[in-house]
Order: sequence, then C-alpha cells, then structure tokens
Amino acid sequence: MLRNALPKIATELPGPLSQKVIDKRKEVLPNGIGCSAPCVIKRGEGAMFEDLDGNIFMDWVGGIGVLNVGHCQPEVVKAAQDQLEKYFHVQVNVVHYKEYVDLSEKVSSLVPVKGDKKKTMFVNSGSEALENAVKFARRFTKRTEIVTFNNGFHGRTYFTLAMTSKVVPYKTGIGPFPGGVSKLEFPYLYRRPLGLTEEQGMAYYIEKLNIFFKEHMEADSVAAIVVEPVIGEGGFVAVPLEYVKALRKVCDEHGILLVADEVQCGYCRTGKMFASEYWAEIGCAPDIVTSAKSIAAGLPLSAVTARAEIMDACQSGEIGGTYGGNPVACAASLKVLEVMERENLAGRAMEINEIVMKRFDQWKQKYEMVGDVRGLGAMLAIEFVKSKETKEPAGEENRAIIDECAMNGLILQEAGIRGNAIRFLMPLVLTNEQLNAGLDILEKAMDKYIK
Ligand code: PMP
Repeated sequence: MLRNALPKIATELPGPLSQKVIDKRKEVLPNGIGCSAPCVIKRGEGAMFEDLDGNIFMDWVGGIGVLNVGHCQPEVVKAAQDQLEKYFHVQVNVVHYKEYVDLSEKVSSLVPVKGDKKKTMFVNSGSEALENAVKFARRFTKRTEIVTFNNGFHGRTYFTLAMTSKVVPYKTGIGPFPGGVSKLEFPYLYRRPLGLTEEQGMAYYIEKLNIFFKEHMEADSVAAIVVEPVIGEGGFVAVPLEYVKALRKVCDEHGILLVADEVQCGYCRTGKMFASEYWAEIGCAPDIVTSAKSIAAGLPLSAVTARAEIMDACQSGEIGGTYGGNPVACAASLKVLEVMERENLAGRAMEINEIVMKRFDQWKQKYEMVGDVRGLGAMLAIEFVKSKETKEPAGEENRAIIDECAMNGLILQEAGIRGNAIRFLMPLVLTNEQLNAGLDILEKAMDKYIK
C-alpha cells in the first residue's frame, strides 16, 4: 500500500510522462508560479505519493503545512464525497447551512483566544484570514495602525504583503503597498547581534519592543500586533515565551489586540492543536487567531477566531465573500478535527520531534555547516551556514541538498529570509520507518554537499 511505502525511484527524473506535463506547464503557466519538483503527482496517500511514471516520493512539505492528516485521509475523503452529493454551495449570506455553523462552534471551542464566548468566521485562504483579522481589529479598537515583524509572512494580497517582510520574491517591482503597517524586530535568537549571549539577546529584543512606541509611533494608535507563534516562511523560529510575556504586557497596557497568525503552525503541528496554547499556559493568550492550511486537509478554508465582542464589531455584510466557508470544505474540516483529536496528532508531533531532534543534534556535531537546528513539535528546521562562527548563510548548499533529496524521493522545501534553511512539514501520520528513511536520504545529501 502506498500509505506504508518507502521512497522508490525507478526512472530518470523527471520520468518521461512527468516531463511532458512539466514542459507543457512551462508553456501555459506564468513564470511567476515556480516549481522545481522533478515529478508530476498521480495519487497520494498519507505521507507518500506516486508520480505519473510510477516513482514513489515521500512528501515532507505536505502542500506547505496543509496535510497534517496526510494525503487522502479516507474518512476525510468520504466526508467530502458525502457533502458533494448533498450540495456544493449556497453562500452563507443567502441560505443557512449547518456545516458552517457546526465548524464555527468546533473551531471556537479549540482556539485558545482570550474571552469566554468566542466566534469564528471562515474565508478561503490564509491571506484572506489575515485581511479579515485586520478589519476586526481596526473596527473593534477604532484605531488604524498594524504592527508586524521582520522575518514574518502573512500572505500575497496587497495588505498582507505590506505586513510581510521577505522582499525577494514576494515584493519586488509590484509596490507601492498600503500604509498603516510598521515592523518590529523579530526575536530571532540564533541571529541576535554578534557578541551578545542568549540572555542579552532576549533583553535586546524586548528593549526594541518597548522603545518602538517611543521611537516610531504612539502605542495608542495601534490596533493590533500580529505575529506568527512560529514564523513559517521566515524559517521556523518560535517566539520565545519570555518575549510573548513582554508582548502581552505591551498590548494590555495600551489596549492593543494581540493577533497570533497560526496559518502555518496551527492544527497539531507544534505539539498542540494551536501553538498559542503555549502562550495561554503562561497567561498570555492572544486576542485573535487566524488559521488555515491543515484545517481542511487541502480544501480551501481559513478561519478567524476571537471573543464575541471583537467578532461582532463589523456590521452585517461587511465581511465575507462568495466562497468563504464552502460546505464541502467545512464538512471535510469537521472530519479532519475529529481525526486529529481521536488520533492525538498533537502527541504524534511530539514523538516526531523527539526522533528528529536526536538526529539534528548529531548533525550539529558532525557538520560545521549545520548552524542551527530547531523545532517546536513537528515544525522543524535546519539552518545551514558557511561556518558556525560567522553564521554566513549557505543558501546554495541548502538548495543543492533539497534538489538532491528530491532526486532520491524526498520532497523538501526551503525557508528563511536568507534562503538557507530547510523546513519540515511532514504529514503527522507518517510511520517511524518512513521518518527514519527520510532522515537517511537527507543525511546522504548533506554528506555530498556540506562539510
Ligand atoms: N500566514 C502564514 C503564517 C502563512 O504561512 C501563509 C502561507 N504560507 C499565509 C499567512 C498566507 O496564506 P495563503 O497562501 O493561503 O494566502
């Protein structure tokens, strides 16, 4: 069965049938939609997929964090099929439907935002969830300014691009971007100013936060501070809990809403259903959470959750869209959440962490060019550098390793502003045998390309 298979490459890559599709893709798709995978998928199961030429690949990108329950989880497939036979779509402002209501209740029960009575709305993409979170925050606080972080990523619509930090490839030549967004320095301890200890580094970032409202803007004009609990595109760095405390304090002092963008880190990836549960445990729950990706195992769906007084700040018709909370996506999502809880996929993320971190720690000793290894649950990354001392990014080597892994049946993706990290978003349902096989493929590639 494909679900339990290991990677197996039987043809040259890309194989002949895949090559035809790839060639045609180049002709008909805009160049701005890139893809370097040497294969075309035919079908997927769990962490594995087969390509058109019969090669078997292991997918550790999972549609960029979308497939925490894996490709084609059978119960989710069935839930979507059953819904398709009843109705595809009616639009939530036109006719009521139960799937949206039930899912809203369920997601609200799981998301650890501040407040007793919570509400959730649905849209289609991560970007759209962020756009709506900004609307709620501005409406509720009657303020305009939004503060985000360098190294952050929040989407590709114009406002979310303004909130995003990485210039190449996201922001080149397409400005101007909307105003009303300013950036704080993200507490990226590995890349703290040279010469500082970790402790001094933390003090440095907290000082940057506090001085921000003296140097840059009045705190009382800020509607929201938006942060990913673990930065995704930025390289899988978790916001240290000490910094979260400082953030929560600043927000409370000035009536600013704290928004946790859990689009990439939500839904069991970090060892909890939501990474902001770690915040809630230290009394620092966020006010608004945006989530998406693994919520519906690949059907387009995203969510905004907050306490009722925030969610009710917009008038009827002000928020929404044609497809937001599509019934098929909602039906699939209800099943996804049932599977995640029943199978304890958050616990599984911690088991994956333990196995991978052991190897990571060995690699940190073995290779001069493995600069940093890190992970919260199964949101794991390696950052490559030319030398441990200078921390100069080793982007080319990173690319070579990713390409080499693909040629051996392991699909990986890079991350980080400097393009020198590999991120791991393996479906949480993969077997330990598959996990170890993937780590072996990666180690061989590292042996080839780094010291
Ligand atoms: N926020 C975060 C944290 C993300 O990782 C992403 C997507 N990578 C987005 C927002 C944007 O989501 P989408 O691509 O679905 O618009």
